[in-house]
Amino acid sequence: MSFTATPDIAAFVQSLPKTETHLHIEGALPWDLLVDAFPGRYTRPPESWHDDYRFRDFTEFMDHYVHYCAEFYVSPQRYHDAARIVFARCYEQNVRYVETSFHLPVAAAIGCPGTEIVEAIRTAAPAGMEVRVFTGMCHNDYDGPSRPWIDAAPEWEGLSGLDLHGPEDLPVEPWTARIWEKARAAGKRNKAHAGEFLPAGFVERILDELQVTRIQHGNGAAEDPALVARLARDGVTLDMCPISNLKLRARGLQTMAAHPIRRLLDAGVRVTVSSDDPFVFGNRLSEEYYALHRDLGFSRAELLQVVRNGWRVAEIPESERSLRLGQLGRIAQAHGLPWQP
Ligand SMILES: [Zn+2]
Repeated sequence: MSFTATPDIAAFVQSLPKTETHLHIEGALPWDLLVDAFPGRYTRPPESWHDDYRFRDFTEFMDHYVHYCAEFYVSPQRYHDAARIVFARCYEQNVRYVETSFHLPVAAAIGCPGTEIVEAIRTAAPAGMEVRVFTGMCHNDYDGPSRPWIDAAPEWEGLSGLDLHGPEDLPVEPWTARIWEKARAAGKRNKAHAGEFLPAGFVERILDELQVTRIQHGNGAAEDPALVARLARDGVTLDMCPISNLKLRARGLQTMAAHPIRRLLDAGVRVTVSSDDPFVFGNRLSEEYYALHRDLGFSRAELLQVVRNGWRVAEIPESERSLRLGQLGRIAQAHGLPWQP
């Protein structure tokens, strides 16, 4: 299997000004930068770049992540250097809005204020691209050296919001709702990973406890029609990552054709696609769209709808949103496609 497209679909996807709203900066580490940082240590990219690679489980994924990425991110400057390349590669694919998150415990390990990493990433955005920075933490990070950073994060200037990630089956502890509430009161827009590996009940619990309207992945939600109806009714956005889900066999996913994004879109849920951890999966955002078209039968109009969803939730002034939706509308018109702004 390979995530390719016919030249006309590739050109169509390229022509759409896109968003990337689920991107971990550590998991997007540019390979060449890693090679340069540790001369002689790395000779070829990870096996997991092969399209048919499948992780045994999330633990293997985490080991992989730590093995390659953790040693690199030792300063705000390293974040800046990586982000410049990551954003430039997004830009080449006609991505014009990126939401990226960095792992909060890394800031704690470096010992620098979180705002320094936020700024290092924000200032790496090229002209013509909007970047929003989130910080993510695991369910059990409050019980360790990250605690002062977690307490301070809701007030970090320049930070767009919090994200909850890491192993999903660790208990969600009571501090989480309190910190998420504090960030919300400070005007942040929070997210949480849920339903990547756990079923619908966990997604529901996260929606209730953390009061988020942005769920990262959310695959498990598709298994409960009542929850699907709630997501559609409440305008909850699922920032999904089909290639990541396939390689990690999220919710037992065996083939791209079985990915729940098709059912969710059909049920009126606001879904977007992103690349999650391109360093680990070897994927590009464009390939996510190719997979939707080739394996899940998304028409051009539906690809356009997914792109539009990203702009609908983007944290940008309404004037810019209208501008972007207008651009998409003109593309729809040029291709004779139905269009709803
Ligand atoms: Zn993620």
